[in-house]
Amino acid sequence: MATTIEKLRVPLTRRVPAALRRRGAMVRHRGDAVACPVCGHAFARFKDDWNRPNAICWRCGAHERQRSLWLYLERHPELLGGGELLHFAPEWCLERRLRQVPGLRYRTADLDSRLGELQLDITAIALPDDSVDAILCSHVLEHIEDDRAAIAELARILKPGGWLLVMVPLDITRERTWEDPTIVAPADRERAFWQHDHVRLYAPDVADRLRAPGLEVERVRWTQQLGPELAARHRLLDADDVFHCVRPLPAT
Ligand SMILES: [Zn+2]
Repeated sequence: MATTIEKLRVPLTRRVPAALRRRGAMVRHRGDAVACPVCGHAFARFKDDWNRPNAICWRCGAHERQRSLWLYLERHPELLGGGELLHFAPEWCLERRLRQVPGLRYRTADLDSRLGELQLDITAIALPDDSVDAILCSHVLEHIEDDRAAIAELARILKPGGWLLVMVPLDITRERTWEDPTIVAPADRERAFWQHDHVRLYAPDVADRLRAPGLEVERVRWTQQLGPELAARHRLLDADDVFHCVRPLPAT
């Protein structure tokens, strides 16, 4: 069933042809070489993305990072046991699944009021301290000029003991995150930071930024943990690490 948010995103006149096109693509690419864990469908191959082949699920639109994140959530069922989960810049494929999790109070947030239930600026979040149990923030921080302010805000609204999962485009060969505020033209940003609207290129030291406001952070090399067979089956990327952050409970 389509949610209100989905209906807002795509007008009815475009939804019907899009659904037909999707169904046609699913038929043309039927097979069993790759499988999407988010929607449960298998195909001969995934759809190509603009910069790489065999990347996007024909059925639900999940990219590699979303398939990774869903597998992470599925294999850590304690994370979705209840409470309130706030999902920044929600991806439709994940939103659809998360809304079905029993007992989970799921809310979406975006700077653009059409894309989330809550209109929130991640660098100045209009929510009280210690107010949410869990946060998903995937492929957001690389667009935010003051990512340190965003991270501090995410830590502030988390309840003690609450968790935050962060994913970013990651250059795992790089030692230090690269920022250069003089690089502003979209074409230059694409060359330097991999996409026209990215403002930096993260290295694994993003973990240090996440630790700055007092979060405990584990860099999970998730694709490696799943192993080569599942990585090939679901077409996962080696660099799609999950940064699993927890706001520590106060010392007693
Ligand atoms: Zn799918």
